[in-house]
This record gives sequence, C-alpha cells and structure tokens, in this order.
Amino acid sequence: MKLSQIIMLGWIFIISNQKFITDILNINYDQIESIDSIKNSDHSLNFFVKLKPLSNLKCPYCDSCHIVGNGFTKRKLIHSTLVNRKCLIFYKRRRYLCKDCSSSFSEKNPFINTGESVTLETKINVLKDLKFVANTYSAVAARYNISVTKVIQIFDKHVDIKRKPLPEVLSIDEHFFPQSNYDSLYMCIFMDFITGEIVDVLPDRKKAYIANYLSAIRAQTLNKYTNKSELHNVKYVSIDLYDNYRDIAHIYFPKAIVCADPFHVLKHLIEGFNQVRLRCRRETQDEDIQYLLTKFKNIFKSGSTWTTKPNTTKDSSGI
Ligand SMILES: [Zn+2]
Repeated sequence: MKLSQIIMLGWIFIISNQKFITDILNINYDQIESIDSIKNSDHSLNFFVKLKPLSNLKCPYCDSCHIVGNGFTKRKLIHSTLVNRKCLIFYKRRRYLCKDCSSSFSEKNPFINTGESVTLETKINVLKDLKFVANTYSAVAARYNISVTKVIQIFDKHVDIKRKPLPEVLSIDEHFFPQSNYDSLYMCIFMDFITGEIVDVLPDRKKAYIANYLSAIRAQTLNKYTNKSELHNVKYVSIDLYDNYRDIAHIYFPKAIVCADPFHVLKHLIEGFNQVRLRCRRETQDEDIQYLLTKFKNIFKSGSTWTTKPNTTKDSSGI
C-alpha cells in the first residue's frame, strides 16, 4: 500500500471516529475546542469536552457586548445515548463576566441548560421510553444508568397529565409514596367513586396544598353569571377518617353530603371490636368465655352448632 493510501485511510478513520463522537454527543465538530475519550474496563465511556468560545457574545442581563472570559466550571454529566453502556461527559464549561453590570453567566451548550447532571439527550430518551406503559420507572432507570428517583423527577417535570372533570360522587383518599420529591410522603388521590376512575393525583395531602388546588379549580371554572364552578358538580364526597379531608370537603363542597367510605368505616369498626374483645378476654377469669373470645370466628363458621367448650382435637383456627 502506498504512503498516500495509508494517510488517506488514517484520515478516514479519524473522520469516522470524530463523527461517531459528535453523533453520540449530539454536537457539531466545529463547536469543539478539545475532546478526549476514554473507554474504561467496564466498557463505560468517558468524554472530556471543552467547547470553543463564542464570538459576538451579549450579556443576558443588560445586553452589553463588553464580555470577558471568567474561567471554567467542571461538570460531570450522565449522557446515556448508548443503552448498552454507561457514558459520562466531563464538561469544562466556560464562564463569562459582563464588564458593564458585573454579572457572570455560563456558555450555552447542547448538553444541559440547568444545574442538573443529566443531559438533554438522556432526558429525551427517558421520556420516549416512558411513553410505553410496559416500561417501568425501574427498567428505564437501569437502561440509562440513572436512579429511579431521577426518572420520576424527569417524568413529573416534563409530563403534565390533565385532570378529569370532578365527578358527582368524589372519593378522596391517599397513597403512601416514599419516593416522593415533595415534603409529604403521602399522595392525595381524587377518584370517581362510582366508576373507580382516577380524576387526579396530587403530590401532597396537606390541607393547604389541597385548598390551593381546589381554589384554582374554582377560579378557573367559575361562571360569573351563575356564580357556580365545577366544584358544584360534586354532590357526595367520600373520605377516609382523616380530619383534613373532612374540613376541606365542608369548605369547598358545602352543598355536598360528606361521608366516610365503607372500607374505612369497616376497618374502624373491626379495630374497635378487636380492642374490646381482647380487653374482655384479658379481664375475665371464665375459661369458657376466654375460649369464645379467642376463637370468636368459630361462632360465624359453625352457626347453631357452636359450642363454648374447647374441642379435644387441636383447633387450628386463629384469632
Ligand atoms: Zn451585563
């Protein structure tokens, strides 16, 4: 092979490699001042990137053109465009200083526009995957080498699911959600009691949050001629035994009938019954009554054939 052919092949390799890198980073090669890549022993890739300084810069605060360089900040960014391996960008981001207003600011770039550590490209990939209901948060997090919490944050920040209209019979309940980014670990769920359809999910169950939420609905849907809003559609409000929900229901749905939902009523009754049963069992010396209070379920199972006496054979039924 001639020397010129070897040089040509070398150039083709360099150009292909550059294109591969710029494609991965979603960037034009003209923008790059320096770039290095390292393949680690676990096959993950690290890129060390510095962009060229831009000309004709203007201060974003006062529009002045008197801009000077003000050093760099180093950012470590998760950039998961390759789903089979982890990819990090160590980005040396330029800072600038405005000589007129003394404000400092960072250069624009194709990776991030906030103080976050996940690149825009990664976020787009995450959101594309989350469009398919079969993809769980955990699966997407594992695929893009980020935490489940981060995936949920991306989803919550960029996806705005419109609520459904308030139903005639509204159920307000809560759900424990330890991964919550909010102060509350409980979400508040608005549901159509008749159809079981979820109307909306609020990230907080505190009274002030729900009050703000319902106030906004009232303000947005108020008909100034009838002085009625969407809140007037609700005729019944079903709640658990949480005081805040009851107070909210009385304030925002004054014409509606507020009732405790059967599940929580039954749960409350069973807990009360068990407390009384066990207290009576502790206090009585009568062995027959002790037996009945311990094996009280036998009464319901055996009907008219139940006996107050312990069976000679071992009874396996629980309390
Ligand atoms: Zn300025």
